[in-house]
Amino acid sequence: MVKKYLTNVMSGRHTPQTMPIPGSTQVANSAGGYSFPLDQWQRLTRFMVLGSEGGTYYINEKALTLENANNVLACIREDGVRAVNEILAISQEGRAPKNDPAIFALALAVSHGDPATRKAALNALPKICRTGTHLFAFAEYVNGLRGWGRGLRRGVAAWYTAMNARDLAYQTVKYRQRNGWTHADVMRLAHPTPTDETQGAIFKWVTRREEAEWARDLATPENDAMAFIWGFERAQEAKDVSMILKLIAMYDLPREALPTEWLKEAAVWEALLEKMPMTAMIRSLGAMSRAGLLTPMSASEKIVIERLGNADLLRKARVHPIAVLSALRVYAMGYSLRGQTNRWGGYVYTAPKEQEWTPTPRIMDALDKAFELAFKNVEPANKRMMLGLDVSGSMATGMIAGVAGLTPRDGSAAMAMVTARTESQYSIISFQDKIVPLNISARMRLDDVVKATDGLPFGRTDCAQPMLYALEHKIPVDTFVIYTDSETYANPSLHPVEALRDYRDKMGIAAQLVVVGMTSNGFTIADPNDAGMMDVVGFDSAAPGVIADFARGQI
Ligand code: CA
Repeated sequence: MVKKYLTNVMSGRHTPQTMPIPGSTQVANSAGGYSFPLDQWQRLTRFMVLGSEGGTYYINEKALTLENANNVLACIREDGVRAVNEILAISQEGRAPKNDPAIFALALAVSHGDPATRKAALNALPKICRTGTHLFAFAEYVNGLRGWGRGLRRGVAAWYTAMNARDLAYQTVKYRQRNGWTHADVMRLAHPTPTDETQGAIFKWVTRREEAEWARDLATPENDAMAFIWGFERAQEAKDVSMILKLIAMYDLPREALPTEWLKEAAVWEALLEKMPMTAMIRSLGAMSRAGLLTPMSASEKIVIERLGNADLLRKARVHPIAVLSALRVYAMGYSLRGQTNRWGGYVYTAPKEQEWTPTPRIMDALDKAFELAFKNVEPANKRMMLGLDVSGSMATGMIAGVAGLTPRDGSAAMAMVTARTESQYSIISFQDKIVPLNISARMRLDDVVKATDGLPFGRTDCAQPMLYALEHKIPVDTFVIYTDSETYANPSLHPVEALRDYRDKMGIAAQLVVVGMTSNGFTIADPNDAGMMDVVGFDSAAPGVIADFARGQI
């Protein structure tokens, strides 16, 4: 007699998630189950997009950062130039919510790469570090990793010398200091040599601002760079609002050039709004409302709504969907949370006692729409899509790209909306170790969608649930899209890939699986050796487009 239990275990059709599928490449995940190891280049993308702030449910921020740093180093060792090119592409295309992981990885490439890698990294420096703040972050990271040798000095000096004078003046005025770094600090380390008189004057102003009076003589209509700097100096001395308004109009001064006392005035914000960069506008909605500018049906409300609806502007400004989602959540609350360190060294957010502004419904709707527009073009696949949200306990810990209060669980729901709003046929289910009811639909506003996940209880994880559910209810699905951290460990159950293969056999549909990774860990439930399965990174602004292309059979 055949020992049935032996056949069952070794057939590789049904394996509990607490054991690896025999003959597969599965490894132990952090939850006590087994998942597939994520390809190191894929993990690089996860880190670039999701960062490591807040850690995950299973490992703390420091350990997660270290794991990711080691993964970046492994990519640099395997093919450093490719690593630099991937980092550069993600940064330049605005696919990541924050540029910090790219800057950090660049610093690693500059410090640990072979000569070809270091050269590529220094060439990429001005393209990745596009603002003074980015440059300060780079200086901070690289400072901790290596000394300031000749190549690095030359690369950083070129950041200053290759920029045109007006842009350089703007960078030095707008980003005067961040995290303990100033342009004077960086210049002292990099020793840039000015290539012309105006550049020399800007460098002199940066390093010896206290004697800025001479800058007035250079501030001629022909020298718009020095005129801008002089406009900034005049704003520091201004005594009344009318002078501030005049200076903003004359010199196109940004918010950062003004003493903060003026930012309580609606008229000042109105003047700033005229030429305000898109990202600054999205970030300043609360401040503009607090000052009383964005009232219903006002001219300023109209300007804001028009710009938020302009896909070209959003794309050119590299506005990331996360920035929009984050702005929507804060704006809709009517107050901004203030962060402070508590006495145990932790970080807490407190809300003010009273609401600080009244959000207008039209701006909330415009933000909701802008979230979709900020993703790369998504053409509907017109396939039957089941969107499966892992809402287990681990997904409710940590934060996406360092956004306070935005957990992987919240983020999954928002991400699923992009596909739900694009596709003609979709269903959304959420699961823990069983199906969990979650009433969300494509027509709901995102802040409400995110709120809907907040109230869910915590639970265990079984990522096979979407496939098991679809099979049990005979729901025809071409593509399963599962938003998860891949920390699946259910027992008794079977592995998600086994459930998918069962589903394919019994339903006669060659169903695909897309795993949308929502944390920067190194696991996936997708079998890398099955062409019908693919990994994308949650909140990569290219992800919804890639999901649709894959579902359409174009990848
Ligand atoms: Ca979990």
